[in-house]
Amino acid sequence: MLSPLAGDVLTQLCRMDQRWFDWRHQPPQKPTVITAETSPLTTVDWDVVVCGGTLGIFMAAALAQRGWRVALLERGILCGRDQEWNISRSELQSLVALELLSVEELEGAIASEFNPNRIQFHQGEALWVKDVLNIGVDPVTLLETLKQRFLAAGGTLLEQAPFQGASIHPNGVQVHGSQVHGSQVVPPLTTRLLIDAMGHFSPIVAQARQGEQPDGICLVVGTCAQGIPRGDQGDLMVSFTPLSNHCQYFWEAFPARAGRTTYLFTYVDLHPQRPSLRDLMADYFDLLPEYQGVSLSDIQIQRALFGVFPSYRRSPLQFPWSRMVPIGDSSGSQSPLSFGGFGAMIRHLPRLITGIHEALDCDTLTQADLACLQPYQPNLSVTWLFQKAMRAEVGQSLAPNQINHLLTTIFATMTTAGEGVLQSFLRDVVQFPALTQTLLQVTLQHPHLIPTILTQVGGRALATWLPHYVGLGLYQGLDRLSTHLPASALLSPQAQYRWHRWREAWQFGSGQDSEPSYGDPLLLPSRQRTDAS
Ligand SMILES: Cc1cc2nc3c(=O)[nH]c(=O)nc-3n(C[C@H](O)[C@H](O)[C@H](O)COP(=O)(O)OP(=O)(O)OC[C@H]3O[C@@H](n4cnc5c(N)ncnc54)[C@H](O)[C@@H]3O)c2cc1C
Repeated sequence: MLSPLAGDVLTQLCRMDQRWFDWRHQPPQKPTVITAETSPLTTVDWDVVVCGGTLGIFMAAALAQRGWRVALLERGILCGRDQEWNISRSELQSLVALELLSVEELEGAIASEFNPNRIQFHQGEALWVKDVLNIGVDPVTLLETLKQRFLAAGGTLLEQAPFQGASIHPNGVQVHGSQVHGSQVVPPLTTRLLIDAMGHFSPIVAQARQGEQPDGICLVVGTCAQGIPRGDQGDLMVSFTPLSNHCQYFWEAFPARAGRTTYLFTYVDLHPQRPSLRDLMADYFDLLPEYQGVSLSDIQIQRALFGVFPSYRRSPLQFPWSRMVPIGDSSGSQSPLSFGGFGAMIRHLPRLITGIHEALDCDTLTQADLACLQPYQPNLSVTWLFQKAMRAEVGQSLAPNQINHLLTTIFATMTTAGEGVLQSFLRDVVQFPALTQTLLQVTLQHPHLIPTILTQVGGRALATWLPHYVGLGLYQGLDRLSTHLPASALLSPQAQYRWHRWREAWQFGSGQDSEPSYGDPLLLPSRQRTDAS
């Protein structure tokens, strides 16, 4: 089915499959790309070097617009991929509020809009939600617009210049790109701060994680194809088959500019018997006719889509070095339930821009200072148990429709708990009151489910989950309390920096980022720059 596609799609699929195979069969590599030096650099030419351009350009453009000297190193050519990113409109507005896009530019980047979205598991009742993940953004248009913003603000873009390594000095970082940029030689760049936006497979992340294995994986395969009845509706999460080969298959479908996109995804661990991406792609084509009511001979595939999304309990990732911070997928700040790393970045962008701007302003660039930018987030940690409840271990004996049945019950309970409860969960934002209400209702109305869930996820997983649940409640309380505390004007700039990061940690860690508060002066970085370098 994929062989008629232009380009090296099959090669890319095999390459990704090989990486996935290695993960299951070999201990992870521990590269050394970062070294620490004691001698200071003679000059520091840049305030920020961003490595990786896909989501990195968002931060690079925002910082360049705020007057910082920014260079961006991109391994290839900075351009988005063809496949749209899905997000909710309310989240996208932050790009306008942050002055990264005009209203017209934002509308120009929107490739599709559809409503409503379905959630349904096996023979359970279909739930329909509106305005959740129903906007398809065209990454090519978006990244081109941001690139122009970045260049207009004085940023320097180095394409085909892969990051090779960096040495950290007391007063800055020396970044080594590949020595070839087109036909020119790129000398090492010296910077006050390095931002790692090289995604899940960043070599810096591999070193920082020191051989740590992912705790969960989301495997995704799919296509964008013509010939599937388009409709204006989407599927957010649908399943129609029982467990097969210890995998519960979930589906997603939505209209796209080039046709209809359909994904099959499943949650797994690193057990060697887990399916390859090619196995999954074969199942996808076997099941697609039943899912979308089409014959394979009637569809014309426009592109193939696949991914292996690792997630780690130890997330977001805090680097063990000064002068370095991860953002985007490399930071691990997206939910282990979704592969919505773009959405996660957009939600966190206002606080990250403010925080990095402030860190540069008052020269708070030590390891401990920068770790505050990727703080512990209980609302992320609690979702681990949900991923575990949506996957079967190899060798575990579960009823064929146990996961379907569980999800039907939980989603129906969330719906009765109120629209906001379900909507925030679907937007990857978990809040204490909504979660508590759902758990209580499930326990009271479906007590027979509790032993089944406990047997599936295990007592140990539940015991490690409980502190995060308590933490979620605590963060919610601290977030409420912090709004009543006096302003921090009497503190030193460094202490203010820390205080602002604490406030954000409580706000975002308790899931209060669902409705961004752009009116909050904390989130709107000042354009005044005091040069601390
Ligand atoms: C099939 C699929 C569908 C998806 N759908 C959605 C969706 O609907 N909504 C959503 O929110 N998210 C979605 N995502 C996730 C989203 O695409 C990612 O979260 C996002 O691309 C992460 O961006 P990133 O810049 O952090 O990492 P990446 O996308 O991995 O980009 C890393 C960048 O760094 C560059 N780079 C890598 N190594 C080097 C190096 N050594 N030197 C210099 N540069 C380097 C790469 O060239 C690239 O530009 C989807 C992903 C896939 C695969």
